[in-house]
Amino acid sequence: MKKSDVVIIGAGSVGVPTAMALGELGIKTRVIDMHPSPGQGENKHAIGGVRATHSSPGKIVACRRSLEILATWQNLHGDNIEWLKGGYLFPAYRKSDEKTLKRLLPVQNKYGLSIDFLKPEEIQQILPGINPKGLRGGTFSPEDGSISPLLTINAFYRRAVDLGVIFHFGERASQIELKNGKVIGVKTHLNKYTAPVLVDAAGPFSPELSLSAGVKIPVVPDSHEGAITESVQPFFQCMVVDIRPGPGSKNFYFYQNLHGQLIFCITPDPPITGTDKGETAAFLPQVCARIVHLLPRLKNLRVRRTWRGLYPMTPDGSPFVGHNKQVEGLLHATGMCGQGLMLGPAIGEVVARLIADQVTDADQVILEEFSPCRKFESQEALK
Ligand SMILES: Cc1cc2nc3c(=O)[nH]c(=O)nc-3n(C[C@H](O)[C@H](O)[C@H](O)COP(=O)(O)OP(=O)(O)OC[C@H]3O[C@@H](n4cnc5c(N)ncnc54)[C@H](O)[C@@H]3O)c2cc1C
Repeated sequence: MKKSDVVIIGAGSVGVPTAMALGELGIKTRVIDMHPSPGQGENKHAIGGVRATHSSPGKIVACRRSLEILATWQNLHGDNIEWLKGGYLFPAYRKSDEKTLKRLLPVQNKYGLSIDFLKPEEIQQILPGINPKGLRGGTFSPEDGSISPLLTINAFYRRAVDLGVIFHFGERASQIELKNGKVIGVKTHLNKYTAPVLVDAAGPFSPELSLSAGVKIPVVPDSHEGAITESVQPFFQCMVVDIRPGPGSKNFYFYQNLHGQLIFCITPDPPITGTDKGETAAFLPQVCARIVHLLPRLKNLRVRRTWRGLYPMTPDGSPFVGHNKQVEGLLHATGMCGQGLMLGPAIGEVVARLIADQVTDADQVILEEFSPCRKFESQEALK
């Protein structure tokens, strides 16, 4: 029997920062992951965008804290995580999009975002070459940015190990063990671990993990593709999010990383649910047509690689974080949808404080919004 205070299932975008935050608080923590190293689940499929530009208080507060952690990481800890403070740009071509983006500004400003709706000429300066036809302006939030997902998770991992967290890779958790309705540990195909608290940070595989404790949760894996191009001279720095729908898709987004490569993604409509990660032939023609229409100067750029990964989706597009009400000791930190990279660092701290009974007022805002007990009625506008 291997004992600890907390066992986390999942060394991904959420599990690793949570382990690090628990380590900071001196709580004896183990992390179990079926893959051979950190970030090999969905973390490495993320394109690297980190924004606090959301439509709801909990997400804004959480992501502002994540941005603070990421922006100061290299100074405080020395690792280069390829933080690029390029901002997020949401151009508006339709009256309805202008209205939506402007409607969100009061809540975004209230919760401390530096964001404004800019004129078309200002947008053209931020994104040189953007299609000017019908451009009405757009929002720009200069504090947002991007990181390398794998450099970041490995930096967090090394810090967690230094703080005494123990990682077990190559082990699949198959059964959450209960006694009298309380968590007592977890069984993998190799070992048994005992702990009174189990954190479900299993991402798209949280439903099957939770089911082993008899708990059903509303998280559904849905797949998204990403791609990266060859390098060209950097000419813009922001993440661009076009919220207009297109044939078979909702929004799409892209940026140019520090190496000059364009990285991009699209949101399929209808969603493609399930855990299949095979790339499709539909993705590149669909997304490239849309990107080149928005930024015609990219038309000769060559794509080097595509991939497909999973979002752990919830019905309302917001995470699923907090104590499970049926099973004492089971705590969910999952359902990050398409935002686990940007939410993970802050959620890790909130979950650690929840376990240590040190929740702050700001944590309460986050925990209420992401509560597993909420009704899932509304939709986050910028999910
Ligand atoms: C194409 C694409 C682009 C994206 N771009 C962005 C972006 O720009 N910004 C952003 O914030 N997010 C982005 N995302 C979303 C982001 O990748 C996810 O939200 C995030 O990785 C989810 O984090 P997680 O910790 O919940 O899951 P993961 O990172 O997948 O971690 C879960 C871990 O649990 C492990 N696990 C699961 N079940 C078990 C088990 N039973 N036993 C042992 N181990 C287990 C897995 O191996 C995995 O390592 C993108 C996703 C995709 C697919």
